[in-house]
Amino acid sequence: MSINKVNTHIIPMEFQYHAPTTLAEASALLEKYGDEAKILAGGTDLIPHMKQRKVEATHVINIKKIPELACIKETSKGIEIGANTKLRAIELSPLIKEKTPLLSEAAATVGSVQIRNLGTVGGNICNASPSADMATPLLALDTVVNVYNREGSKDYTLEEFLHGRGEVKLEPGELLTGMTIPLQPKNAGMAFEKVGWTTFDIATVNVAAVLTLKDGKIDHCRVTLGACSPAPVRVYQAESILIGEEPTQELFDEAVYLIAACVEPRESWRRAPPEYRRKASQALAIDALTRSIEKARRLA
Ligand SMILES: Cc1cc2nc3c(=O)[nH]c(=O)nc-3n(C[C@H](O)[C@H](O)[C@H](O)COP(=O)(O)OP(=O)(O)OC[C@H]3O[C@@H](n4cnc5c(N)ncnc54)[C@H](O)[C@@H]3O)c2cc1C
Repeated sequence: MSINKVNTHIIPMEFQYHAPTTLAEASALLEKYGDEAKILAGGTDLIPHMKQRKVEATHVINIKKIPELACIKETSKGIEIGANTKLRAIELSPLIKEKTPLLSEAAATVGSVQIRNLGTVGGNICNASPSADMATPLLALDTVVNVYNREGSKDYTLEEFLHGRGEVKLEPGELLTGMTIPLQPKNAGMAFEKVGWTTFDIATVNVAAVLTLKDGKIDHCRVTLGACSPAPVRVYQAESILIGEEPTQELFDEAVYLIAACVEPRESWRRAPPEYRRKASQALAIDALTRSIEKARRLA
């Protein structure tokens, strides 16, 4: 078949629809149909990709009927979020707003309310887009992802799970069941910044920061950058120069220089050239660091 990538607004391929009610059933279907199968969560990425013939699945496995996949709860390990939890639920959850406000802030920037009512956090991560707006803040929160395998479940750091553009660490028959966000320090200031073509758009650049202060100096620090490399990254070099120092404008200028250095030079990137992304990452990082410090000061 000749494939043209024009969105015809119809799904050009016939496919078989499955709606398993257990993880074991979903996993068995994934194993049976291999590359011909695709998981359907909210469908806000998958369905447009099928219409554009970027994805050709002959078996679509809707995971909506597996009840344990949609949850937000606090456990002894931290906050657990099921893979099939809607972005709108994350945006509005009182628990998330209290414990990890960074996630409600980021979720609120994804598309429109209609998209957030359909789109899930698991879909956002598994789509493995460099610009995924939930991946950058989840990285800054040291998130551990949970993967179902019929032999037993597996945990990975989000950093390990995100392999690169379009790739996540899932073996045949496996699916993402959720994620655990370790409890954050009580005095952590957090901020998410994003720039896109329009307010409804995926990020051209996004930045997340999580900081605490101890005796006026930065104690705990995470800075992550999205949409600038094949997968969102933690900027370790910037974190290491910030930790143990008083937060000053000069220090932030030095840190954001290191953040901008993580932008990979790929002129082919459609939404903006590397030079724009470097400048935008510096501006967004200054804002994210400044807002996090202000919040950390109020919580200290
Ligand atoms: C108009 C519009 C605006 C958008 N704006 C934004 C934006 O601002 N920011 C942003 O980040 N994204 C944006 N998106 C993209 C999309 O809405 C999000 O990435 C959303 O979170 C995807 O979730 P979903 O549940 O719809 O995923 P789906 O489309 O159902 O799935 C996406 C991919 O992940 C796989 N998958 C889903 N769940 C699992 C699982 N549990 N285990 C294994 N694989 C799984 C699917 O097979 C598929 O390959 C936008 C999309 C549209 C159409």
